[in-house]
Amino acid sequence: MKYLSTRGGMEPARFTEILLGGLAPDGGLVVPERYPCVDRATLARWRSLPYAALAYEILRLYATDLPGPQLRALCERTYTADVFGSDEVTPLVALEPGLALLKLSNGPTLAFKDVAMQLLGALFEHVLREQGSELNILGATSGDTGSAAEYAMRGRAGIQVFMLSPHGRMSAFQTAQMYSLADANVFNIAVDGVFDECQDLVKAISNDLLFKRRHSIGTVNSINWARVAAQIVYYFKGFFAATRSDDERVSFAVPSGNFGNVLAGHIARRMGLPISRLVVATNENDVLDEFIRTGRYRPRSAAETHHTSSPSMDISKASNFERFVFDLAARDPARVRELWSALERDGQFDISGSAEAERLPACGFASGRSTHADRIATLRAIHQRHGVLVDPHTADGLRVARDWREPGVPMICLETAQPAKFAATIREAIGIEPPRPAGYEGIESLPQRFERMPVDVERLKRYIADRTDALPSSVDCRWRADA
Ligand SMILES: *Cc1c(COP(=O)(O)O)cnc(C)c1O
Repeated sequence: MKYLSTRGGMEPARFTEILLGGLAPDGGLVVPERYPCVDRATLARWRSLPYAALAYEILRLYATDLPGPQLRALCERTYTADVFGSDEVTPLVALEPGLALLKLSNGPTLAFKDVAMQLLGALFEHVLREQGSELNILGATSGDTGSAAEYAMRGRAGIQVFMLSPHGRMSAFQTAQMYSLADANVFNIAVDGVFDECQDLVKAISNDLLFKRRHSIGTVNSINWARVAAQIVYYFKGFFAATRSDDERVSFAVPSGNFGNVLAGHIARRMGLPISRLVVATNENDVLDEFIRTGRYRPRSAAETHHTSSPSMDISKASNFERFVFDLAARDPARVRELWSALERDGQFDISGSAEAERLPACGFASGRSTHADRIATLRAIHQRHGVLVDPHTADGLRVARDWREPGVPMICLETAQPAKFAATIREAIGIEPPRPAGYEGIESLPQRFERMPVDVERLKRYIADRTDALPSSVDCRWRADA
């Protein structure tokens, strides 16, 4: 399997060469040259596989330059009951006939990002060891992604994590989750500023190519291809758990932000998984819902982006969206370049009336938008009717799923986080404190370790330089640059 850029300007590369990044040198996103086809006989063979074995079967189609036995061992070490709470890894829980939750948030940071990120940690460690190189991951977080990255990379050989977070602006639970890590390769940097300022610091360093190269700086953001690939697995798992035969179909409802999760569903469908609908659920930040309904893609400015009670879906532009548009454009990079230059020029593009609009219905997408009131009402109704507590993001998914159910087609809503992470909204909806999973009681009182820092690029560079080995400036970094 070779990887290409959605904009056509990249030499075909192998999986291990694009593993760290996602952004192609021409500004496009890295995509596989084709989607492997999974026929009915293969589906039948996969149906009874445990999660780790299923992950191996799917990932080996994409990671063709990793030796099979090594990839299998990495999957088996990652997808364990120890890390994900059960042998099922992503158990399916029925709410009522035809409606179920696929629980993706039983990993160490209680959000679905762990499913892919834990594997990414194992892959990075393995490939770095093979190459004899090291990697310093630099990132900014307002909560979920940063902690998932830290828990995936903690204690791994050849990897250090420098994670910026806005001092005093995360929930006590999120703060404790990150700052209580004692691993020597994790550096929490509490910036005296807001999240955007943390992100600006990361961008400033990413733009300093010399510094970046000398200190082997990389990122783990949502456009990382391996994360998308690892997410394909649980769509298959959910299908098998909800059906008895491969002649049936299912639909998925996906609480969406950067379009990473639902993109994996789109790819599973393209591979041949019998998916009827892929329901994209947004919150008040409804860029994706607007696109699917109207064909108009209009990313919002930071000022137009709402801060909502499902904060992990508060995005202004959907960073993985270009990969889907590439497929919609029949994989024509010239057309993607055309659309993205319109986007740059006009701040939006519109595919209505074009060939892309004609292809959209065949992709099976449906969409909807959920507001704070919807989320609260849904949380409450699900709790009353089924005795099940869901988090605000999953509530958005369930709210939108309701409008798109079909008789005879099970609707599977992806549970993207646990309610314990969003206690204030749970209290508002049903007046109780969400239960903490075992092992998370009292994490707020553990000792915390972090470095406080002003918004100052030079200070940050010094901090990183003091803690990393500088390569001679002539060494060419094997890792691709990433934004
Ligand atoms: C990241 C996240 C999402 C959004 O997923 P995307 O892949 O960005 O669409 C939804 N819910 C939760 C809890 C998340 O952490």
